[in-house]
Amino acid sequence: CGIVAYIGDQQAAPIILDGLTRLEYRGYDSAGIAVSEKKTVRVARAVGRVRHLRQALPKKFTGTSGIGHTRWATHGPATEENAHPHSSADGRISLVHNGIIDNAAELKAELVAAGVPFTSATDTEVVAHLIAAVTAPTLEQAVLEVTKKLEGTYGLAVLDTEHPDRIVLARSGSPLIIGVGKNGTHVASDIAALTPHTTSVVHLEDGELATVTASGFTTFTHDQSDTSRPPTEVPAES
Ligand code: GLU
Repeated sequence: CGIVAYIGDQQAAPIILDGLTRLEYRGYDSAGIAVSEKKTVRVARAVGRVRHLRQALPKKFTGTSGIGHTRWATHGPATEENAHPHSSADGRISLVHNGIIDNAAELKAELVAAGVPFTSATDTEVVAHLIAAVTAPTLEQAVLEVTKKLEGTYGLAVLDTEHPDRIVLARSGSPLIIGVGKNGTHVASDIAALTPHTTSVVHLEDGELATVTASGFTTFTHDQSDTSRPPTEVPAES
């Protein structure tokens, strides 16, 4: 339902929680956040409101990059286990997803047959396991390879403990917007979570992926052509 991500020089958790609060009007049943610090990623999730997630956060939830989600369940009930972010079994990959993976059942059956342990009933979890299973030199290439196998709709934001300097995004049928701020780069599925921080934005197109870092972003397509473009200005928050 709602995605917020941030990478920069500020603490990520407060920025992401505020962004999720701004997306509450869209409706959701659970919420979660993952923050990356020194090659570890911590995940917290809660059923109910963003304020329940805020209350459930450990004190030491520090780090300057992270991803957050408000979930509107399509596959599996509204439980903490089904709330996003979802992670690979080794904890290396954590991601949030908006949309529906139509071929999740087939992909899951293959992974289960190969011995991969699942912890949720979502269509989303397969994506985390698939990305972790790919041997590609970069996170971008791993995400690219996996999105080629996905049928359905997705907006994805992916953290990798091996590449803590970036967040990789992919879009097909589910909006994602990048905002370039003074203190870092912001991502959201809805402009309402960006305008408190910046008015310089780029809308990802369907079929595009992106790398966001503390100092900016690049966008590219499935055939790996670079589609990076300067941000455009949206009206400031009234
Ligand atoms: N299909 C995913 C799930 O049920 C994502 C739902 C959403 O867009 O919030 O977990």
